Amino acid sequence: MPRLDTVVEEIAARMRSREERGKVASYIPELAKVPLDQFGIAVFTADGEMFTAGDADIPFSIQSISKVFTLTLALGKVGDQLWNRVGREPSGHPFNSIVQLEYEKGKPRNPFINAGAIAVTDVLLAGHQPREVLGEILRFCRFVADDDTVAIDEHVARSEKVTGFLNTALANYMKAFKMMENPVEHALGVYFHHCAITMTCRQLAMAGRYLAFSGRLPGKGVSVISSERARRINALMLTCGHYDGSGDFAFRVGLPGKSGVGGGILVVAPEKASIAVWSPGLDPHGNSVLGSLALEQLAKAMHWSVFGG
Ligand code: GLU
Repeated sequence: MPRLDTVVEEIAARMRSREERGKVASYIPELAKVPLDQFGIAVFTADGEMFTAGDADIPFSIQSISKVFTLTLALGKVGDQLWNRVGREPSGHPFNSIVQLEYEKGKPRNPFINAGAIAVTDVLLAGHQPREVLGEILRFCRFVADDDTVAIDEHVARSEKVTGFLNTALANYMKAFKMMENPVEHALGVYFHHCAITMTCRQLAMAGRYLAFSGRLPGKGVSVISSERARRINALMLTCGHYDGSGDFAFRVGLPGKSGVGGGILVVAPEKASIAVWSPGLDPHGNSVLGSLALEQLAKAMHWSVFGG
C-alpha cells in the first residue's frame, strides 16, 4: 500500500498543473467571485491522523454538503417518519429540477436535491423559529467538526436569497401540494443560510468522521448517531450525492460522497477515512471537476472503493 501522505501530496501537485478546471457557479453571484485556481484536500484516517495538501485551510461555501448534516438532524428528530416527506431514490435530474416534483405530487425524490433538502428543513422547523433551527444546525456542524469557528457567510446567504427564484418555486410548489408545514419563507431562510455555512477542507474532513466511522468520533468514544443510521446516510450519499452525476461518481470513485456548488465534496471511505476536497470549478452537473478527479486518483491509489479493486 502506498503512503497516504505521499499520495495526497502527489495528487495536489497534479491538480495544481491541470488546465481544465470547469466553471465556478455563477447563478449565486457571490460564488462567482471565488478564484478558480484553488485546490485543497484533507484526509482524516482511522488512527486519528490528518493529511492535507494544497488550499486545505481556506474556507469555502459548503452549499449542498450541508444537506448531509440537516438530514442527520432530521432523522434524529423524526426517525423513519422522514421518509413520508422525502424519498430515497436517485433523481436523474438536475439538482433544482421542478419537473419530477410535479409527477410525484410534491414529494421530492431524495433529501439531497434542493426540493428534498427544503422539505428536510421544513421538518426541522416544526415547533421552532428559523433562528433556533439555524443555531441547532450550526452547533451540530461545529460539534462534529470539533471547531467553533465554523460560521455562516451572510453575503452568500443574501446573494442566494435575492436570486433564489427556482428554490422559491420548488418550496411554493410543495406548499401547494400540502407538503410544507411551515411558512415557505421560513424554510427558505434556513435553507439559504445552512447552504452558506463555510468550512475548510480540514474542518469538513473532521465533520465527516461520524459517517466514516459507523456513527462515532474515533478516539473520543463519542457516538453521534447509530451505526445503522450512518450506513443509511452513506447509502444515500452514494446513490444521490452528486445529483444526475451520481452514477458517474460511483463508477469513477466508488465511495459515498456529497458535493456542493461551492466546489467542495465530502467523501466517506467506511472505517478507513473521512475525506474533503475543494476546487471551485464545476462540471455541467454542478460537481467539482478537480475534486472528482482527485478523489478518483485517491480511491484508486489506496484501493478504497467500496466496490473493491
Ligand atoms: N444552495 C444551492 C442551491 O440551492 C445548493 C446547490 C448545490 O450545492 O448543489 O442551489
